[in-house]
Amino acid sequence: MIEVNSMYDYIIIGAGSAGSIVASKLADSDSNVSILLIEAGGTPPNPIEMFTPSCWFEVLQEYPEIDWGYESQPQPNLNNRVIKLSQAKVLGGSALHNATVYVRGGQSDFNDWGNLAQGWSWSDVQAYFESVESTMKVLVGQTDNFINDLFAAAKEYGLPENPNYNTSESQYGYAPFQFNNNITTDYQLCRETTYTTFWPEKYPNVTLLTRALVTKILFHGTQAVGVEYIQGNKKYSVSVANEIILSAGAIATPKILMLSGIGDEDELAKIDIETLFNVKEVGKNLYDDLFVSVGFSIPDHKSVPIYPYSLAPAVIFGSTKGNDSIVDIECSVGVGTLKGFPGPRNSFWLWPNVMHLQSKGTVSLRSNSPDDHPLINPGYLNQTEDIESCKAALQLGIEIGNKPSLSQWRKEQISPQPGTNLEDYIRDTANTTYHYCGTCRMGSDSNSVVDTELKVRGTSGLRVIDASVFPKPITANTAAATMMIAYKGADIIRSC
Ligand SMILES: Cc1cc2nc3c(=O)[nH]c(=O)nc-3n(C[C@H](O)[C@H](O)[C@H](O)COP(=O)(O)OP(=O)(O)OC[C@H]3O[C@@H](n4cnc5c(N)ncnc54)[C@H](O)[C@@H]3O)c2cc1C
Repeated sequence: MIEVNSMYDYIIIGAGSAGSIVASKLADSDSNVSILLIEAGGTPPNPIEMFTPSCWFEVLQEYPEIDWGYESQPQPNLNNRVIKLSQAKVLGGSALHNATVYVRGGQSDFNDWGNLAQGWSWSDVQAYFESVESTMKVLVGQTDNFINDLFAAAKEYGLPENPNYNTSESQYGYAPFQFNNNITTDYQLCRETTYTTFWPEKYPNVTLLTRALVTKILFHGTQAVGVEYIQGNKKYSVSVANEIILSAGAIATPKILMLSGIGDEDELAKIDIETLFNVKEVGKNLYDDLFVSVGFSIPDHKSVPIYPYSLAPAVIFGSTKGNDSIVDIECSVGVGTLKGFPGPRNSFWLWPNVMHLQSKGTVSLRSNSPDDHPLINPGYLNQTEDIESCKAALQLGIEIGNKPSLSQWRKEQISPQPGTNLEDYIRDTANTTYHYCGTCRMGSDSNSVVDTELKVRGTSGLRVIDASVFPKPITANTAAATMMIAYKGADIIRSC
């Protein structure tokens, strides 16, 4: 067992996308500071499969032991379906079972952030994306006949080519997908995670504790002074000299705050938790994109390409408003040849992710026991206008998939069956994109959970650095922006 000292300069909770960067950057900047990195999960059970991007669907299904196993509450606007909300519990966090696609987000997204949280507009964050990219490999997917025909169909639909959605001023248009993948010495693709790339363990001043569940942050007055955790059925506590950084992800971070007495006092009282800091928005503003799907069978004499990536190497950015300055659809593409693919082998699927939805939800506690999963209500489609956005995104998928350029790949549209009521279909099939964020919103305003330096309001020595702090949704999968926040967050701490 690892020897744990009684005191560290910094304690970081969660060795996921954000926590691994924060730990490494702090350790690198000063070899005299001591850092404890605490992770509830352990090492991955089957690294070869897990690090092979094309096994993504299989890994998601076959390794429940690296997942928290969260489920949503029944969603009334999705016909009361309970949505499985995967979130990794493993060294490396959700980057270990995510699809590895790399999308920064639109420049206008971050300018919106800057309006809500001073110091976080595009000009403030661009250099941090570039720093992440100088360390994390970003590989541009290679196109082929199928992808070229798909791009021709997107062009027929009226979209422009956009060679690089990450560096262009606008994301609008079709482009090869970019992935956080590296190439091994035997020319295989390998998933990159911030844990394996930034490798906090390589620093002698980092102590890594695995299979340790943090249950509470301890305070002396307003000062965070330590954490309590459970490992192997025993409870421990460890003290901190400088700061505690919560990087447990958008579901677990608000849970830990609430268990520590930081949250809405009325709600905490109902579950017998004494409120130390009445920060009402903890766990509020839970945001997730939805995706809708359009499936096509492929003629028997054709075969779908076998890709080394987690998804087909193509993405189409569009607009539910038909307006190139409002980019709120990110359409990815699935093919039946991917291992563990949830559809017929000879099929291809367009999956428009619908972004900037108005609906929001909550993460709250069901009890004061750290063993209980929180109640997660993403509130999907609780704002009526969102169903129209989903219909527009679905329509984009249907129209592009049925364009003449794809005729040699298309036998027939298998889902939704022609003639299906699209609203019913969306309520029956729309699903999570796993882009949970916003539950500890950052803002310049005093109601936000963290300030623009990521400090939890009312407290000292406690920051949140992970996907929880998004002030507003973005047109992107959430890993890139989370890594950017971690990089910038570490710089903010170092400059104090
Ligand atoms: C299935 C899936 C597919 C996705 N696909 C993509 C994609 O292709 N591209 C993309 O950009 N984004 C994708 N995402 C989203 C992206 O991976 C996440 O937004 C990002 O990893 C979040 O980083 P984080 O640091 O906030 O949390 P995480 O990376 O989840 O890290 C949180 C860590 O904290 C640990 N932890 C939690 N509670 C405790 C506790 N009490 N004590 C100790 N440790 C704790 C967890 O075990 C975990 O390791 C996907 C997510 C999922 C789940």
